[in-house]
Amino acid sequence: MERKLKVGILGATGTVGQKFIILLQNHPWFEITALAASSESAGKTYEKAVAGRWKQEVDIPANVRKMTVLECDPAKFNSHGRVRIAGASRGEGARFGCCDFVFSGLDASAAGEIEKSFAAAGYPVISNAKNFRMDADVPLLVPEVNADHAAIIPFQQKRRNWKGFIVTNPNCVVVPLAMALKPIHQKYGVSKVMVTSMQAVSGAGYPGVASLDILDNIIPYISGEEPKVETEPLKLLGEMKKNAFRFAKIKISAQCNRVPTKDGHFLTVAFATKKPAKVGDIKKLIKKFKGEPQKMKLPSAPKRPLVYLEDDFRPQVRFDRDREGGMAVSIGRLREDPVLGFKMVVLGHNTIRGAAGAAILNAELLYKKGHLRTK
Ligand code: NAP
Repeated sequence: MERKLKVGILGATGTVGQKFIILLQNHPWFEITALAASSESAGKTYEKAVAGRWKQEVDIPANVRKMTVLECDPAKFNSHGRVRIAGASRGEGARFGCCDFVFSGLDASAAGEIEKSFAAAGYPVISNAKNFRMDADVPLLVPEVNADHAAIIPFQQKRRNWKGFIVTNPNCVVVPLAMALKPIHQKYGVSKVMVTSMQAVSGAGYPGVASLDILDNIIPYISGEEPKVETEPLKLLGEMKKNAFRFAKIKISAQCNRVPTKDGHFLTVAFATKKPAKVGDIKKLIKKFKGEPQKMKLPSAPKRPLVYLEDDFRPQVRFDRDREGGMAVSIGRLREDPVLGFKMVVLGHNTIRGAAGAAILNAELLYKKGHLRTK
């Protein structure tokens, strides 16, 4: 590549935004050139904007410390840097931007309008937010599961008259769930799923759940979570034909709980298959599973996207969430279930594999497929 792609982060001050900053340090293809957040943070240096709420185990990287946080407004981006934005002719000096594309870790209350405005202004937007995930022309993407769905992007651009586009990654429970089910669904057809989640507090952002609510406790409700877990996997595990998504015919029942762990969503999953299967054969499928990111050797791709652990006491949140830099999904305790046929335990890192890492892997896939380029 002639130069690294210049990247902006919308929602750079939040839980997911901070993870983007950590994961993009020393990225071989992408470099951070703009940070943006709400008007509360805009105008401050990044280190001032996150003072008291930088929640990572490593210091704020030197390359972003003194960057001024921008408002999430494409006009501000366009006047900030020197990268020509899509469609701008040489005479339009003002139509320069500082980024080739943006990641979004925006709160859903703001993501809708802001992401749309960036896509309309010519920016590819790689988003974590829920707002566009289920739209008929927007890819909901996990590269190991449905890399081919990216092919709908030109249709989206034409339909919405956008020079940019929006690509989303799923909810942080759905990523590990869909990845674990993918090889099983591919071979045997999954027909029913019952999933119970035990979700870490970082999934609620910062400051998130009050400590007096979650310490010594389990909360049996996460607003809006269960409908996402019951529907998003159907789009991911479905097919894309003639610029339309056909959802997988799977019935999913989800019960989502908030538990007092910091990172890592832990799921117990029971499932039925259409074709008869055996525990040993499913285990073999999981162990040898590889997707497009592994074949393409994408920089953030885990070597083994699914790690099967034979020890009945694993996976455990504290010990297994960081496997392969938090990008691998750990699975264990696959066994027969007297009601649905099979059951297993699944663990994924919510802010890495379920959020920032997922979006970065999506961007790597989109770059390799020619949807992202330097401007
Ligand atoms: P968060 O910690 O609350 O951060 C939200 C970010 O959005 C902050 O940077 C905030 O900026 C910005 N923001 C809020 N209102 C804004 C506005 N009106 N205009 C511009 N910026 C605004 O949330 P999070 O956990 O990082 O989640 C971010 C997104 O990712 C959400 O859509 C969430 O559903 C999704 N997600 C989160 C996870 C997870 O595990 N946490 C996993 C998957 C997906 P200020 O700091 O300036 O207020």
